[in-house]
Amino acid sequence: MNEALPKKLFIKTYGCQMNVYDSDRMADALAPHGYIPTQEIGEADLVLLNTCHIREKASEKVFSELGRLKELQTEKRATGGDMMIGVAGCVAQAEGEEIARRAPMVDMVFGPQAYHRLPDMLAKAEANRHMHPALKRAVVDTDFPEEDKFAHLPAAKKDVTIGRGLTAFLTVQEGCDKFCSFCVVPYTRGAEVSRPVAQVLDEARRLADAGVKEITLLGQNVNAYHGEDASGRSVGLGELAYLLAEIPGLERLRYTTSHPRDMDDALIAAHRDLPFLMPYLHLPVQSGSDRILKAMNRKHTAAEYLTLIERIKTARPDMAMSGDFIVGFPGETDADFEDTLKIIRETGYASAYSFKYSTRPGTPGANLPDQVEEAVKTERLARLQALVNQQTTAFHASCVGRTLPVLIERVGRMPGQVGGRSPYLQAVHLEGSTDLIGAIHEVDIIGTSTNSLVGRLKRAIAA
Ligand code: SAM
Ligand code: SF4
Repeated sequence: MNEALPKKLFIKTYGCQMNVYDSDRMADALAPHGYIPTQEIGEADLVLLNTCHIREKASEKVFSELGRLKELQTEKRATGGDMMIGVAGCVAQAEGEEIARRAPMVDMVFGPQAYHRLPDMLAKAEANRHMHPALKRAVVDTDFPEEDKFAHLPAAKKDVTIGRGLTAFLTVQEGCDKFCSFCVVPYTRGAEVSRPVAQVLDEARRLADAGVKEITLLGQNVNAYHGEDASGRSVGLGELAYLLAEIPGLERLRYTTSHPRDMDDALIAAHRDLPFLMPYLHLPVQSGSDRILKAMNRKHTAAEYLTLIERIKTARPDMAMSGDFIVGFPGETDADFEDTLKIIRETGYASAYSFKYSTRPGTPGANLPDQVEEAVKTERLARLQALVNQQTTAFHASCVGRTLPVLIERVGRMPGQVGGRSPYLQAVHLEGSTDLIGAIHEVDIIGTSTNSLVGRLKRAIAA
């Protein structure tokens, strides 16, 4: 490896915030080995695709991206340059050797549990490059290691959050033991693992010291967090929130994504007691039909979900809800779908993500009879999204006339404007000088525009 000349690293990130966090950590892991990030794929010495397997045809999309990269690699080689290619993330975990076989120009294939071994893999892959092309094989690492990946990755620093320097993601938990029958996560990310409390607090302190005001804790099933403290006791997400609240400079905390079954009393109490825990909760229910919830292996009923929301809103009355929905799960009838619309009406969402069910090979859902026709899924999705859009619009409108604390994060789209986020994760635009950036200010909400709020500065409440 040439330590003297910096090499350029381009990472293309697909999927969720956890992948965004992972991409930042991969960049951190490679920095001591002379790699600096670039936004220009053409000048990259190393391209990493950090893939997501949650959507349909995910693997095919990766293979077609690799086809494009091959052309770029060939062009660079024709002019005396070169480009290494790595495939990371959940498609890499799921496809492993298949990627190495079908895309021989790939140098490394590695799953989410192997990121801390990236420098070693890179060294092996660089050595492999000198082999005869007929013998060259990608370095493949899709093991689920025993060692703690996070303990071996460099600590997050402020510059990993370039462009979002006031807010940062912090992964506290990975993997999932729930095995919802539609989902690949338990297979690609493996069993639930929580980072120790001290590690999380250290990383949060470092981020706060570097100027981060708002942290979003991440996990595939974040409220299943059960990290060990120094005495070996298991600490849940609620208790972790109280500990994070003591960190000077940290003004806001969020977490995503949660499972209804893991919303325990301590976490609900934390919402009651800690103003810095933002009143916006992403709590997917997927369906409003008990029959479908059972087939999905969600292990709760629609009524239990609604009761849970009542308890959460008793603790934090201004809690805004967000969710995920799947339409067209195998066997979903019109009546089941009506139940889903019903739970949406009863809950009232500030926002929601919705998807047509797509078969994930290897999941139990893939083998179920009564797969729903595509046209039916399309029609149901459109109806569901129309209802959610109405609710989002109504929620934005209900904020007009209120004064909300807004973390001002950036210059606005229009000259003389700045922009930030409300506690409910809404984008807020207002007239104001760039001096406002970096602090939470009270803002009178005077109107709405598509997907955002329009505000007017009231007065600063935090420096
Ligand atoms: N752990 C979270 C939970 O329990 O809801 C969700 C994680 S998953 C990465 C994000 C969302 O993708 C899910 O909530 C679900 O709505 C959607 N999803 C997952 N598998 C899907 C599939 N096979 N078809 C359609 N949507 C799917
Ligand atoms: Fe997937 Fe979430 Fe279910 Fe786990 S809880 S299997 S991540 S949908």
